[in-house]
Amino acid sequence: MTSISDRSKKLGTENSFVVLAEVNELIRKGKDIISFCIGQPDFETPSNIKEAGLRAIKEGKHGYTPSSGILELRQAIAEYILNTRSFEINPDDVVVGAGAKPFIMYSILATTDYGVGDEVIYPNPGFPIYESQIRAMGAIPVPINLRQNKMFSLDADELESKITKNTKLVIINSPHNPTGGNISSDDMADLGEVFRRNPQCWIFADEIYSQLCYHDKFISLTRYDDLLERIIILDGVSKTWAMTGWRLGFAVNKSLSPVFSKWVTNTESCASQISQWAALEALSGTQRYAEHMKNSFLERRDLIVDLIQELPGVSCLSPGGAFYTWPDITEACKMTGCIDSEEFRKRLLNEAGVAVLSDIHFGDRVVETEQHIRFSYAASVDNIKNGIDRIDQFIRNNKR
Ligand code: PLP
Repeated sequence: MTSISDRSKKLGTENSFVVLAEVNELIRKGKDIISFCIGQPDFETPSNIKEAGLRAIKEGKHGYTPSSGILELRQAIAEYILNTRSFEINPDDVVVGAGAKPFIMYSILATTDYGVGDEVIYPNPGFPIYESQIRAMGAIPVPINLRQNKMFSLDADELESKITKNTKLVIINSPHNPTGGNISSDDMADLGEVFRRNPQCWIFADEIYSQLCYHDKFISLTRYDDLLERIIILDGVSKTWAMTGWRLGFAVNKSLSPVFSKWVTNTESCASQISQWAALEALSGTQRYAEHMKNSFLERRDLIVDLIQELPGVSCLSPGGAFYTWPDITEACKMTGCIDSEEFRKRLLNEAGVAVLSDIHFGDRVVETEQHIRFSYAASVDNIKNGIDRIDQFIRNNKR
């Protein structure tokens, strides 16, 4: 008799895809839904990038490439790293993959062994694939909580208290999904000290939102030269250049790049060659469209935060990066008789026609009594206004 592995049964998922299926089903049945659940830019890929993809197809550039990616793209990525992080790398330190996501798995595979007690620390709330992949790869997931009173930054003391001799990898993510928080310069310095005291830890710096920072300049742990050899930088074209479906991301680390390359050979073979040429144009062509998209996100962040702050029983920080906001809805839950954020989310969807994600989609609640929901504000201004208005009506009409 055949069976399905425990590993597969335990595999987690990204709930935005699950909620999206729910939303699409409601839309199919004719329900009018305003959605804030999917984490992708609501822009088309800029035309110069689409043209580069078309050119690649017309010129017959569609075969396999080296697993690490075409040299032209890796050179452009080295240039991008220099411009955005101010340090030089060799194109050989870069590996390109089908999106940034696969490198979460490859990094865990490259730094931990199955079932031997290796630990991986990751942010909670956090991108759900971290915990899912840590478990699936047979390592032990160790969450570190991010708190609203710390602006969802990462507390160095708390991190140090979680590190043991078995900690092989620490995942940090700034700007952060789902809170939109950034790790401040001071906190980054404290984290640097913690990593210096713990030389056994690799550091996975998920910087996929690096170019979507609003208040300050993007701050990366890579500013500390002495830590560079242990830092795996993760970035890609999905968010900055509205290219989620092109599936193109990359990781940078000198000693791990040959390992990643082997994993790519063992899994995807290589990223789509067409997408690689398009990504080359994204990185080295005009940045006019990327700047426009970023400015538009900033305007919409200010709009949505202002509107959310007016909602009864809701408080909301102004997030420094990405395109998410993570308001505290504890009081609104009490007002409307919802036992928690998940019930609030379901009722919003079914009664108010507004789709959001709830905190439990991003890990265990940090404080069991504190409820949050996530908005992706990569939505039109009209949808932001109408969606928040619907939530306002929902809370007022259901006040107990
Ligand atoms: N890391 C974080 C924090 C994300 O939010 C996402 C996508 O939502 C990814 C990685 C994956 O990016 P990609 O679509 O390039 O695989």
